[in-house]
Amino acid sequence: MITAASKLAVITGASSGIGFELAKQFIDHDYDIIIAADTEKVFDAADALRGKGKNIEPVKADLSTYDGVEMLYQKIRDCGRPIDAIALNAGVGVGGDFITNDLNRELEMINLNVKSVVQLSKRVIPDMVSRGKGKILFTASSVSISPAPYLAVYGATKAFVLSFADAIREELKDTGVTITSLMPNATDTNFFARADMEDTRVGEMKKDDPALVAKQGFEAMMDGEAHVYGGSIKSKLMTASEEIMPENLKGMMQAAMSKPGSAKHH
Ligand code: NAP
Repeated sequence: MITAASKLAVITGASSGIGFELAKQFIDHDYDIIIAADTEKVFDAADALRGKGKNIEPVKADLSTYDGVEMLYQKIRDCGRPIDAIALNAGVGVGGDFITNDLNRELEMINLNVKSVVQLSKRVIPDMVSRGKGKILFTASSVSISPAPYLAVYGATKAFVLSFADAIREELKDTGVTITSLMPNATDTNFFARADMEDTRVGEMKKDDPALVAKQGFEAMMDGEAHVYGGSIKSKLMTASEEIMPENLKGMMQAAMSKPGSAKHH
């Protein structure tokens, strides 16, 4: 049960990886939380997060569907409390050659990474604007500013997220509601296994700690910053350099990292 004692945050995709670590950040900063994910793992995550005296409400919802997002929003409303912050973080990748990848998997990914983000934003942001306060964190990506060969559709979903976030940030700048985009580099989560990318260079290389990435995202959101690159200094420098690199060069670099079979130990 969520009670009215502390601030309330919602985190999507909180059963593992960056979202789970974001949930920990909110708890450590005295928030009650509603966490959402697609599978039973969301209940395990809630159990793992309990113990610090905060209220945690797990919601199992397939956010790639319209009804799944509406169900989560209904659960948020059922709490009877306004939300102070939301991390729209749930997302998946589909690695491999565009011409042979399964279309249905790609469309499902678009539904999760793009459609659910628009739908949930449409539901929660007006309430925040009416209250004159709220903090929103979108998990975009370093590939939001680069073509992503062998992750082509995924990369485009993340470009969408960044563009959308930046646009509504400007629209909402005088409302008291802030919008922040987290742009992680390769981070050590279930992402690469789920995207069938374990035989790629990026899949096998050492990656950033999701706890560090979540902390960076949380702090940037609290400060109301527009963007934050995620990860180590090296990762941040890599993402920063992409801001000024030509698209074809970025595409070549990303291809070398993501091409199926590119892993050295393959
Ligand atoms: P992850 O560990 O695989 O986490 C993905 C989360 O999304 C899980 O909680 C998963 O829950 C949830 N999810 C997946 N499908 C869902 C659905 N249909 N409905 C509701 N929830 C769903 O990977 P992660 O790296 O932490 O990913 C979090 C975000 O970071 C994603 O948006 C990803 O694009 C972004 N990102 C990751 C990296 C990276 O290198 N890892 C880099 C840049 C950006 P279930 O397991 O219960 O389905």
